[in-house]
Amino acid sequence: MEKILLSPPHMSGAEQTYIDKAFATNWIAPLGPNVDQFEQDLAAYNNVEAVAATNTGTAAIHLALKLLNVQPGDTIFCSTFTFIASINPALYEKAVPVFIDAEKDTWGMSPEALQRALEEAAQKGKLPKAIIIVHIYGQSVKMDEIMALANQYNIPVIEDAAESLGSTYKGKKLGTFGEFGIYSFNGNKIITTSGGGALVSNKKTPIHRARFLSTQAREQREYYQHVEAGYNYRLSNILAGIGIAQLQVLEDRIATKRAIFDCYQKGFQDIPNITMMPELADTKSNRWLTTVLIQDADPTEIMNKLSNKGIEARLLWKPLHCQPVFEDCQFYEHIEGAGSVAEALFAQGLCLPSGTQMTEEQQNYVITIMREILAEVSCT
Ligand SMILES: *Cc1c(COP(=O)(O)O)cnc(C)c1O
Repeated sequence: MEKILLSPPHMSGAEQTYIDKAFATNWIAPLGPNVDQFEQDLAAYNNVEAVAATNTGTAAIHLALKLLNVQPGDTIFCSTFTFIASINPALYEKAVPVFIDAEKDTWGMSPEALQRALEEAAQKGKLPKAIIIVHIYGQSVKMDEIMALANQYNIPVIEDAAESLGSTYKGKKLGTFGEFGIYSFNGNKIITTSGGGALVSNKKTPIHRARFLSTQAREQREYYQHVEAGYNYRLSNILAGIGIAQLQVLEDRIATKRAIFDCYQKGFQDIPNITMMPELADTKSNRWLTTVLIQDADPTEIMNKLSNKGIEARLLWKPLHCQPVFEDCQFYEHIEGAGSVAEALFAQGLCLPSGTQMTEEQQNYVITIMREILAEVSCT
């Protein structure tokens, strides 16, 4: 039997048309008509002014920090409950991360913890240069509360929406609220270009500069002229072709991901020790991965037992403030002294297979095996 994977790529077939076009015109080099179209399509889909397509989501975050002029020693606030790519670019600039806890309603940045962190930073006269919020597993954070705090202290927000393309908060696309938003098109994301990313903004000027910085900061001259250091961060014209076709099926993929979540929810509704990931009122998650919390059982043990049955599950993100690489970094709990919410999520959570090509049979199989494992684990 084939292994049931967590979230494998799902091509529509139309990708080949755009790849073929690039081949037919021999436009293999990075940049070209597919990149231009992919940027336009992404801007239209998200209703933003400007988009720069990049070779990874991580590169897009790095560019956002460069555009905000982050300097060595600057502080960057970041959600702790995320993948390390959210904050790695801050380390490239020798900036200092401060991690903010998650909250139960969204699993994203806690406005309460952010408020305390900002108050303390203001007292010390060391406000952060940027706040990186992460919409995790497709779920929006409490944008009104977070943006109100950021605006009160006049701190730019970078929205890491790598996992949340197509999700909305009060009808508006995630990634379009802050100074900058970023998306990822890595192989496991809701749509993919095999590898890729995008930086978006409602301001055109910084996106022009992002394109400049991501093409080795080459000045417009007859010869190669460089006044500052740049990067090689642009998306290739072939991969952008995959992106154009993938974007056309994004809404279908979201509908399927949400149906997968609903099916799991139904399958587990009579099991009291399984809690599904919440969805905040007035938000719509793309349900990139169906994730659950499990009481009174060890998720690692369940993951391994699932693996023995040909099912790929995964633990939730280990909070960044618990990572050895960040052991010296400051961390603000959701409620001071009450214990970290992100740590509790990590200790209890599991991501279940959520590939949009899963059959009903496969999904029922995962549900059945989960139920068997839970029955077994809770009577020992
Ligand atoms: C995938 C991911 C990224 C990084 O994207 P890449 O395209 O792999 O560089 C950043 N942040 C989060 C939360 C992600 O899940």
